[in-house]
Amino acid sequence: MEKKSHYNDKYGATIIKTMQRERKLFGTNGIRGTPNRDLTSDFALNVGRASATIFGTKTVAMGRDTRDTGDMLFSAVMSGVLSTGVNVIDLGILPTPAVQYYCKIHGLYGIVITASHNPPEFNGIKCIDMDGTELRQEDELRIEDALSGGNWKLCRWDEVGRVTGDPGGGDLYINSVIAKVDAARIRARNFRVAVDCGNGAAYHTTPKMLRELGCSVVELNSYPDGQFTSRQSEPKPENLADLISVMKSGNFSLGIAHDGDADRAVFIDEKGNFIDGDQSLSILISSIAGKGDTVVTPVSSSDNLEHIAREKGFNLVRTKVGAPIVSRTIIGKNAKIGGEENGGVIYGDHQYCRDGAMTVALMLNLIAERRKPLSQIVSELPGFRLYRTVVRISGKDPQKILHELDKKNLSEKVDRTDGLKIYLDGGWALVRASGTEPIMRIYGHGRSMEEAEKINKKVTEVINSLL
Ligand code: MG
Repeated sequence: MEKKSHYNDKYGATIIKTMQRERKLFGTNGIRGTPNRDLTSDFALNVGRASATIFGTKTVAMGRDTRDTGDMLFSAVMSGVLSTGVNVIDLGILPTPAVQYYCKIHGLYGIVITASHNPPEFNGIKCIDMDGTELRQEDELRIEDALSGGNWKLCRWDEVGRVTGDPGGGDLYINSVIAKVDAARIRARNFRVAVDCGNGAAYHTTPKMLRELGCSVVELNSYPDGQFTSRQSEPKPENLADLISVMKSGNFSLGIAHDGDADRAVFIDEKGNFIDGDQSLSILISSIAGKGDTVVTPVSSSDNLEHIAREKGFNLVRTKVGAPIVSRTIIGKNAKIGGEENGGVIYGDHQYCRDGAMTVALMLNLIAERRKPLSQIVSELPGFRLYRTVVRISGKDPQKILHELDKKNLSEKVDRTDGLKIYLDGGWALVRASGTEPIMRIYGHGRSMEEAEKINKKVTEVINSLL
């Protein structure tokens, strides 16, 4: 796509420059920005108009996470959709994968107002295809073209769309998740679990699903709070101190934490250890994929999967980073399962998107089946670890930094699938630009956390010298 600087003047939307690395409004996971700064009501209204015009259908399903700015953006986008003569089904606050499942089952396009795990000052607009997967990039570009040209449909007054509510999206979703696991076996174990919904969209779905799976549930932050005052939304260990201490204080089998829109789930083992999303991805894939199956994961997840693939006899396909890319590859390759190293598991048997509640149910299914504690299952992994950091690059061109890093020739073996993956003694480093924030992500990979950290630090030093 060419430069679209006129967005700024015409729609009052100064979309963060680094979010449109390819001169696009849509990043790896929809449009993101700060409401009333670069994500205004006027802009959201026009996104609603342009999206509905491109969808070309009679009805669009809409949902949102718990952010306080969700009301403003939701109603603006909804108004835009209605003005084109398209009806809206208002699903209310729902996990993104629950909206996606609704779209898949009813054959509808969808729009979700969410900024996923980002801090509360952000929000976003994400479009869903009729199969429940994130909208194809070519369709996102068509929406951008419609936006830049002001090419949207405005219907006659007596054709304006209508709104109906459907409060059943949450139950539809959790019932379909439960149907994909051995619920009787899970119920028979009467697991004691602790769940931290982070005041996000899963507050009324995941605890309910856990109880329906026979668990006794201790809930943390399972009420909506759009300021995320209890903890930050990203489910990483430093944000999960309360959950970890609850896990250490009692006799629990599993601790669970979601991000703001609950397309991801991460776990705490029965001893109170944080289980990295890369480790939980590896053990879930290992439990599901068998001989002849195909598994899809980005270049950012660890080499555990190569080892497990050799042992189990499944084919492993590596992609660029980004859940929609992984999902589309899973569909194209007819793969069984896939996912990212951040707790985003995509289970093709259910739907083709990151699926937080499905990830939770699969994990319960696994510990019910193995009859072993999670810590023991994790200890049986090949043992490769990731050490991740970020570097702020405000104002700098990430592609230029990557180019300069490439010119340093740190290794003869590099992989340019996404960013720069540099194979070094004892492991590899991956450096890439974030698709949603003005940062570069640096991954160190090694046979232990210490080695992974060492590699990360080595490459970070080089990047700092380039900055
Ligand atoms: Mg998310």
